[in-house]
Order: sequence, then C-alpha cells, then structure tokens
Amino acid sequence: SRTPIMAGNWKMNIDHVEATGLVEKIHYTLVDKDWDPKKSECVLCVPFTDIRTVRTLLDGDRIPFGLGAQNVSQHDNGAYTGEISTAMLKKLNVGYVVLGHSERRQYFGETDELVNAKTLKVLGAGMIPIVCVGEGLDIRKAGEHVEYTLNQVRGALAGLSAEQVAGLVIAYEPVWAIGTGEVATPADAQEVCGAIRGEVASLYDGPTAEAVRIQYGGSVKSGNVVQIMDQPDIDGALVGGASLQPEEFAAIVRFY
Ligand code: 13P
Repeated sequence: SRTPIMAGNWKMNIDHVEATGLVEKIHYTLVDKDWDPKKSECVLCVPFTDIRTVRTLLDGDRIPFGLGAQNVSQHDNGAYTGEISTAMLKKLNVGYVVLGHSERRQYFGETDELVNAKTLKVLGAGMIPIVCVGEGLDIRKAGEHVEYTLNQVRGALAGLSAEQVAGLVIAYEPVWAIGTGEVATPADAQEVCGAIRGEVASLYDGPTAEAVRIQYGGSVKSGNVVQIMDQPDIDGALVGGASLQPEEFAAIVRFY
C-alpha cells in the first residue's frame, strides 16, 4: 500500500541548462519503458539554481515527476545571507526537501537538533521532508549501527505528530556505502530499515509505522535495485551517482 518513491539526489552537479536535457532523457526513457507513476513515484532533488527551470519543464511538458530541494533554512526569512527559505521553495511548487544528508552533517556541521528544526519547517510549509540517517564505517564495525541510526531518527522526529510522521520519508543511507560502489547487502539494509519502522511504531503507533516511507541510499544502481526493493521495509531509493545517468536512473525508477 506504500507507493515506492525513487528519488535522484543530483548533489552539486548539473546546471540549469544541463538539467533540461537530463530531465527530458529520463522522462522519455520512462515513457519507452511504459512507466506507471502510480507504481513508482519519481522525484528529482536538484540544486537550488535548477529549480525554476525544472519546474517550468515539468509543468510545461506535463512530466509527472516530483521536485525536491537538497536543503533549506530553518529560519523563516531575514538576515541570513546565502540561505533559502521554505516559502521560496513552496512558491516554486517544490514538493520535497532532502534534510540531514550525511554530506551536510559531515561538511556543514548539521546536528540532529538542526535537522529536527528544518523538518518542522518543511512540514509547516506543506512540503515533504526526506530525512536522511545512517552510520559511518567505524560505527558499523563496532556493531552499533542500529542504535546510532535510531538515535538520529528520534532526534529528527522530536515534536512531530503521528500524522506528520506518516506523511514523510526517511532515507537510510549508510555513509560507507555512499559514492563508494560499496552497497549494503539487502539484508543489511533491511535490518536497519526494519528497525526504523519498529522505532516509529514504538514512538507513535502501528498505522503511522505502516504509512511512513523508508528509502535505502548508497550506491543504488539498476543492477541492485530489485533486490533492495524486495525487502519488506524498503519503500524506495535515494540515488546519487546513478541519478545523473538517464538510462540508469530510469531503470531504477522502473524497477518493478
Ligand atoms: P550514491 O548513490 O552516489 O552512492 O549516493 C547516495 C546518496 O548519497 C544519495 O543521497
């Protein structure tokens, strides 16, 4: 009953001119493959400077992709040089915002508290957060990956209502599998995604846990997506490198 959600995270790649070609190629490849958006949702999480262009293209050509940003300010407006607000994104009909990606935690010092503040802002603006969690290699080696990741989940969801949690997306991205070609085994990914759903059930209730969508991210490709999507608690993928290759990403979206 949870619609799979396949999201491309372009990271700091693809300018607004290049974006047009990439979106068109993804779309016509999916049309060729008889993709049904009711069977897998396709979301593109693009750089801020691409949003206007991609929005116009999706609307003009009636391309049924979701549009996402990769970050947003926790503030409403004001003297925050260089920042982008939820209202600015909402005005461009952005539907999703990736929050707390490991690269933002690692390079920009984002904490669970900040991710929580941003999550509340995004929900308040009527957009869907894609909240990223996941452990680094040292924590995995120490066998503490489940507890570490659940702690991030508790931090990100603090103060949210059951209804808000039911509508959001959690992305489990083990840091050691990001951009490394090292993919978690389907069983490893399921272990943590299942634990996340269990944690949502204990923090909230069964129906909320059944509704929340949980993605796996980390070196997802057309060659491993089917096994990953076969896992009972994995409802989608957050795709980095492979989302920049149109045939590859279209095959991931059309995994079913
Ligand atoms: P890769 O798919 O390049 O490993 O990146 C995963 C990721 O970080 C998506 O947010």
